[in-house]
Amino acid sequence: MIERELNFSGSKPLLYLVATPIGNLSEFPPRAVITLRQMDFVACEDTRNSGLLLKRFGIDKPLISCHEHNEEASSEKIISLLQEGKKVAYMSDAGYPVVSDPGERLVKKCVALGYKVAVINGPSAGICALVGSGLPADHFYFEGFLPSKPSARDREIEELKARKETIVFYESPHRIEETLKALASSLGPRKAVLARELTKAHEEYIRGSLAELASLDPKTLIGEMVLVVEGDEGETLPISDGDVRKLLLEKLKTLRSKEAIAAVSQENAVPKNRVYAIYLTLK
Ligand code: SAM
Repeated sequence: MIERELNFSGSKPLLYLVATPIGNLSEFPPRAVITLRQMDFVACEDTRNSGLLLKRFGIDKPLISCHEHNEEASSEKIISLLQEGKKVAYMSDAGYPVVSDPGERLVKKCVALGYKVAVINGPSAGICALVGSGLPADHFYFEGFLPSKPSARDREIEELKARKETIVFYESPHRIEETLKALASSLGPRKAVLARELTKAHEEYIRGSLAELASLDPKTLIGEMVLVVEGDEGETLPISDGDVRKLLLEKLKTLRSKEAIAAVSQENAVPKNRVYAIYLTLK
């Protein structure tokens, strides 16, 4: 028998899960601030980070630490507070809790006890990068962080190879060069976008093939980053001269010759000299 109760009425305990900014504090939504002001306790991944964020918004609440290493015990404490009728919210350092962040064990325990959960929405780095990537977003696969050990990482990449959906990875600056090289050598010539420092002053979307991104100077790949990679397109048929001609004519409507040739070459993995030769026949 399914027991139903609306989230914002009734008597069952309710845990709030609050998303937080991924860099730009203006992206802390009014609903998050209003909700946090109403709480008796705020549980968070890092009490120092969240304490600063809350202070910035004039919110002063008792904080409870709940991170990867104490989530089991801390969840029990949060659950007993909810049981006593206290209002408790949980937030991680950035973006949504649970998504490559702690919180999953806490949510699972609440659900198992029949408690309710309400999510207060905000930004998430993966969705932000996917939306700005220009790669297909109708179907996508969220991989998050690849395993750090090269052997486990390579096995995981092998499993991703046949996926048709766009793939979203989280990565850290000290591993990005190695990850890009591993992906380029296993997945072949695919489009990819490295989205850095999203919502911050040095935000950047770097677009190219996996191999092109792997050849960038790693010293320039700093800050927080999400890598978005196109899915397996299946076997690509060789592109005919007639198709290249059509694509060129389309590009030439808006671009100068040099740019149009470069765009057709890059977007379709056709050598530039072949596109140029076809361009000459247009005259
Ligand atoms: N829970 C978060 C979310 O919903 O996006 C993700 C937390 S995960 C521990 C942190 C990773 O998210 C970073 O290593 C990076 O890959 C990505 N990330 C977080 N903030 C970012 C930003 N401003 N720009 C680009 N990537 C970001």
